[in-house]
Amino acid sequence: MNIEIIPVTVFQQNCSLIWDDEKNAAIIDPGGETEKLIQRVEALDLNLKVILLTHAHLDHVGAAMQLKDYFNVDIWGPQEEDQFLFESLPEQAERFGLPYIEAFLPDRWLYEGDVINIGDIQFDILHLPGHTPGHIGFIEQEKKASFTGDVLFQGGIGRTDFPRGNYEQLISSIREKLFKLSDDMIIIAGHGPYTTIGREKADNPFLK
Ligand SMILES: [Zn+2]
Repeated sequence: MNIEIIPVTVFQQNCSLIWDDEKNAAIIDPGGETEKLIQRVEALDLNLKVILLTHAHLDHVGAAMQLKDYFNVDIWGPQEEDQFLFESLPEQAERFGLPYIEAFLPDRWLYEGDVINIGDIQFDILHLPGHTPGHIGFIEQEKKASFTGDVLFQGGIGRTDFPRGNYEQLISSIREKLFKLSDDMIIIAGHGPYTTIGREKADNPFLK
């Protein structure tokens, strides 16, 4: 699995472009800056197969519909409990001071235990509620890289003060699910530098 992280929006959200050796690709959490993302996909000559979303906050989904239309691909994820957030995208735009966006829904919800394939790349889906109720993570066991949005950061955890955020659920998602992954699992978070499960178990001040 090849990975390129492309920070987008004023929130410097880590949009991730991933692809296998045959150039089968997916884009995870395209939060905005559609033109920049299209240019990278085309410069790398990738065959974009699907758009994947960890949760429905605007800075993670803002470019999804434009990319779907441009590349004629489906949008998969998150879990359906984030439906209310997709429906409130116009209000999120106002609240976060981001460009206006129409409400939309993904083509497919993803659930805990689902396994999806993009060419040679396989992701296990974990449901990681707390930051949002339908938040999911994409776990790649072989190369040990996980895309987990706004759940766990290097030295931090996701905010729970947004609509239907839940602190206890967030801590439980981290302790009962992410911390069951191997210590050398790389966590590519929605914002900031990447980290590993082992490092966060040892050092994260919110999880002592
Ligand atoms: Zn978020």
